[in-house]
Amino acid sequence: MKDCNCIFCKIANGEIPSYTVYEDDDFKVIFDISPASKGHALVIPKEHYKNLFELDESIASKALVIAKKVATELSTELDCDGFNLLQNNEEIAGQTVFHFHIHLIPRYKNDNVKFTTTPGEIDKEFAEKLAEKIKNKLA
Ligand code: AMP
Ligand code: ZN
Repeated sequence: MKDCNCIFCKIANGEIPSYTVYEDDDFKVIFDISPASKGHALVIPKEHYKNLFELDESIASKALVIAKKVATELSTELDCDGFNLLQNNEEIAGQTVFHFHIHLIPRYKNDNVKFTTTPGEIDKEFAEKLAEKIKNKLA
């Protein structure tokens, strides 16, 4: 299933050019057009899934294997100092392209890339209740 207005569907189809670093029947991995760091790449399934919640489970598991393989090669080639995987869902979480993708972001000392959060304090009662509820639902 493709979405005609989706830029990543067009990239997956080859309608829009990209720097492709990996391709198979189900995925393309391309360089991000506005990289956060040198070598920033995106793992993109060829089928259109809006986000993590819509993602097919077998595509979900393949995505992480591909992310690992490509991140390992990039890391070796770029001799980077660390690596972030990032995956955004919905606008509030920073998603701008509504076709599931995983960011592969090589990190370098002094690269000035920032993912900022402020550590909070766990609410023990809330954590206990929610953990129990979800454990039961997923059991
Ligand atoms: P997100 O904000 O998680 O949805 O990430 C979308 C990413 O897609 C951004 O990092 C953009 O720079 C990148 N992007 C948008 N259009 C293109 C394109 N034509 N080729 C490569 N990357 C793109
Ligand atoms: Zn799409």
